[in-house]
Amino acid sequence: MKKYFISSIVLITLFLSCKPQKKQLQKPKLVVGIVVDQMRYDYLTRFYSRYSENGFKRILKNGFSLENAHYNYIPTYTAVGHTSIYTGTTPANHGIISNNWYDKYLKKSIYCVDDSTYTTIGNLSNAGKKSPFRLFTSTVTDQLKLAQNMRGKTIGVGIKDRSAILPAGHTADAAYWFYGKNDAQWISSSFYMDKLPKWVVDFNNTKKVDEYLKQPWNTLYDIKTYTNSIDDDNIFEGKFIGENTTSFPHDIPSLRAQNGNFNLLKTIPAGNTYTADFAKAAIIGENLGKSEDTDFLALSFSSTDYIGHKFGPASKEIEDTYLRFDKDLADLLSFLDKQVGKDKYTVFLTADHAAVHVPAYLQSLKIPAHYLNSSKLKAGILAITQKYFNSVELIENISNYQIFLNKEKIESIGFTKDQVAEKLVEEIVEFEGIYKAVTAKTLQTSHFSDGILNSLQNGYNQKLSGDVLMVPYPATLTGGRTGTSHGSGYSYDTHVPIIFYGNGIASGISKKRYNIIDIAPTIANLLQIEAPNSATGKIIEEALHQ
Ligand code: ZN
Repeated sequence: MKKYFISSIVLITLFLSCKPQKKQLQKPKLVVGIVVDQMRYDYLTRFYSRYSENGFKRILKNGFSLENAHYNYIPTYTAVGHTSIYTGTTPANHGIISNNWYDKYLKKSIYCVDDSTYTTIGNLSNAGKKSPFRLFTSTVTDQLKLAQNMRGKTIGVGIKDRSAILPAGHTADAAYWFYGKNDAQWISSSFYMDKLPKWVVDFNNTKKVDEYLKQPWNTLYDIKTYTNSIDDDNIFEGKFIGENTTSFPHDIPSLRAQNGNFNLLKTIPAGNTYTADFAKAAIIGENLGKSEDTDFLALSFSSTDYIGHKFGPASKEIEDTYLRFDKDLADLLSFLDKQVGKDKYTVFLTADHAAVHVPAYLQSLKIPAHYLNSSKLKAGILAITQKYFNSVELIENISNYQIFLNKEKIESIGFTKDQVAEKLVEEIVEFEGIYKAVTAKTLQTSHFSDGILNSLQNGYNQKLSGDVLMVPYPATLTGGRTGTSHGSGYSYDTHVPIIFYGNGIASGISKKRYNIIDIAPTIANLLQIEAPNSATGKIIEEALHQ
C-alpha cells in the first residue's frame, strides 16, 4: 500500500513537471509612461524619414504601434487626456471634465488640480497649491501601489502641473512641475512631501536652464531640407512678443525678457530636453528600476503643445520640434538601457490630444474651417432666453461649449430647467458655426453607441457637466487666426500615437481602432494587477507577449 502511494506521488510529480509551464513572469522594473502633449498621429509618418534609428524608429520597429488609436470623448484637453490615459476611462466616470470648468456647486470656475488646502514645496509662490482630489477614480499608478502593498515608487514629471499630478494618481510619492517666470525651478505640493528631496534641490541649483536660453532657436538641419512643412514666413503662425516675423531663427536671448523670462523655455524645443534632463535626475535620485518592485515614472512633454498652439501643425517650427524631440527620446531610451537595463523596463508613448490644422490655413486651401466668436455666441443664447422666457438671468455660465442653467431663477418664473434647455437646443442649432446641440437630459436617457454624440456622452458627467451641450462644425476654433488649438471630438483632435515598447511587449502594428482608455487596462494586465477602479477600456491583447 505504502509502495503504491509513493509511486503515485512520483507519477503525479512527473506529470506536473511535464505539463507545459507558463513562462516565469519577469515583471518590468520600471514603467515609463510618456505623454507628448498635442502630438498628432501624422507627426510619426510625416517626419518619419528624418527620424533617427534610436528614437521613434527604435520603438516603432521593436515595439507595438497602434495606427488607429483615438480619444473617444469630448473635450480633448490636456488634463482630460492625461487622466483618461491613466484611469482607463472617460470624464463620464473619472470626473476631470476639462482643464478649467464651472463648478455648479461652488458657483465659480475652477482649475482641475487647484487645492488651497496644500502649500507650495520649493518656492514661495502659490503654484504648488495642488492635488488630484477632483479625480474621482483610481489610476493604473494607484493600482500598482495597491498591488505591491504600497511598495514601488510612482513619480510624476511634467512642465504643466496637471500633466504631472493627474497621471501620478492619489498615491504617488511625488509629482514635480516647472515654475518659470524669474525662478527656473521644479516644484511640488505639500500633498506629497514637506520638502524637496536633495536631488531636486541640486538639479534646481545647476541652472542648466540658463544655458538653454542663451542660444537662439535655429533649425536642427538646414532649413531647405525641411520639406514637410509650409514656408517659414506665413500669416498662419503666431509670433513671440517682440518679433517682427514668424521666421527662423528665433532670437531667444533677446526675446526672453518680454516673454516671461524662464517661461519662454516652455515654447521652445529645449523645454522638452530640459524635462528629459529632470526625468533622468529623478530616475537616478529615486533609484527607479532598482528594487524588487515595479516603479512608475509618469512623464509628460509639454513644449510640443506650447509650440503647436503658437505655430500650428504645418509650421517649420513643428517639424523642427519633432526632429529635436526624436533626439531627446533616443537619448532617454539609451539612458534607460544603461540605468535600468535593456528589457527591464516598459515604455508607452502617446499624446493627450492632437490638434487641428490652423483654420485660416485650411480656408486658404478651400477646406471648410471656421472661427466662432464666443461673445456673439453668448449674446445669441441670452437673446433666446429673453425672447422665450423674458429673462437674461437664466444662464449661469457658458464654457467648454456647455451651458449651465440657473435652476432657482428658472423655477422662480414658473418654468422648468428641461423646458429652457429644450428651447435652447432648438434655437442654438440654427446658429452659424454650431453643428449640433443636445440637452443633458438626452445624454442621460439615450445611448449613443458611436459617432460624435457617443464622444459627447463619454465626456458628459452627470454630476459636473452643463445642461446644454453644443458641438461646432469640424475645424472650428474660437480666438485669433494664428496658431491652433484642440478640444473637439473630430479625428484631427482624437487620432494620436500609441506605441508600447520593451518588457512584455510584442513587436508589430495594428490598424484596428482602439481607444486611449485601452492603455491603462493593457498596462495593468502586463503588470498582472487590477485595472483602475472605473476602467471601461479593454486590454489590447495583440500588443502583449502571449
Ligand atoms: Zn495638452
